[in-house]
Amino acid sequence: MDTDLTLNNGVVMPALGLGVFQSPPDETAAAVSTALGIGYRLIDTAAAYGNERQVGEGLRQSGVDRDEVFLETKVWVSDYGYDRTRHAWEKAVRKLGVEHLDLLILHTPAPPRFEQTIEAYRALESLLAEGKVRAIGVSNFMPHHLAELLARTEVVPALNQIELHPLFTQPEVQKVDAEHGIVDQAWSPIGGITFYGGYENPLPSALEDPTIRGIAERHGRTAAQVMLRWQLQRGRSAIPKSVDPQRIAENFAVFDFDLTADELASLDSLDTGRRGGPDPDLDRTEHFDRAIPED
Ligand code: NDP
Repeated sequence: MDTDLTLNNGVVMPALGLGVFQSPPDETAAAVSTALGIGYRLIDTAAAYGNERQVGEGLRQSGVDRDEVFLETKVWVSDYGYDRTRHAWEKAVRKLGVEHLDLLILHTPAPPRFEQTIEAYRALESLLAEGKVRAIGVSNFMPHHLAELLARTEVVPALNQIELHPLFTQPEVQKVDAEHGIVDQAWSPIGGITFYGGYENPLPSALEDPTIRGIAERHGRTAAQVMLRWQLQRGRSAIPKSVDPQRIAENFAVFDFDLTADELASLDSLDTGRRGGPDPDLDRTEHFDRAIPED
C-alpha cells in the first residue's frame, strides 16, 4: 500500500501523521522529535492548540530536514476574515519557525460567522497563489458548508479533516468529499474522543470495542493499529495523537499487515451515526472568540 496520498493539486502528503491536540506544550517538542525519528513525516497542529512553537522546536531537535516534513496547521475562528487570516499565516510561520506551510486549513465552519469563514478561505487562496502554503483545506465541514464554499470560492479544498473513527464514520461527508477529489483526514482516528473524556454523551470507548479487539487479536495487533490500518486501507489520512514514545511507535507500525475486505466491512458497520465531538453547526461563541496570541 502506498504510504502517500496525492492531493487534488498534485501535492504529495504522507497519509499517516502525528496529531498534537491536548499535547501539553512541555511534552510536544519531544513527541514531535520522537515521531520524526521513527519515520513520521506529517505533523498536524493548530493555532488553537497553543503548541505550534513546540512543534517547531521538535522539528529542529529531530535533525530531519524541514523540507522532508509535511507541516499542517489550522486557523482558529477568531482569526477568520480576509486580513485576519492572512495575518494568522504570519503568526503560524513565526511560531513554527518555518518559511512556508505545507497545508493550512480552516479549523471549523463556524456557520454563525460564515461570511468571515468565506473571507478566511479567500485569504487561504491568496496565500496559496503566493506560494506561502502548498495546499489549503477545511476541517469539520459538512456537505452543506462545503456546497456554499464551493459555490463562492475558486479553489476546491485539498482536504477535509473530520471526526472519523469506527463508531462515527460520516459516510455522507465522505461521499461528497470524494465527488470533489477532497481527501478525508480522520481526527480521533483511534477514537480518542470516545475515551479521553471532557465531552457530553460520550460514545463507548473504541479501544474496548469487541469487534475491533477481535480483529486485533486475529492479527496479533492492538485495537489502535487495527483502526489506523482501516483508515489507511480506506484511502484516508489519519493523525493519531500521542505523547508516549511507545504509543507513537505503535501507531506507526501499521504498514506491514493487511485487513481483509470482510474485516474492513465489519469495521465500517460499527458506525453509530453519533458524533463524539461538537456539532459543527453549533454556535460556540465563547470558544470561537478565544484570541490566538501573536507569539
Ligand atoms: P486520537 O484518536 O488520536 O486519540 C488520542 C488519545 O489516545 C490520547 O488520549 C492518547 O494518549 C491515546 N493513545 C494514542 N495512541 C494510543 C494507543 N496506541 N493505544 C491507546 N491509547 C492511545 O484522538 P485525537 O482527538 O487527539 O485526534 C488526533 C488528532 O486529530 C489531534 O491530535 C489533532 O491533531 C486532530 N484533531 C482535530 C480536531 C478538529 O476539530 N479538526 C478535533 C480533534 C482532534 P497518549 O498521548 O497518552 O498516548
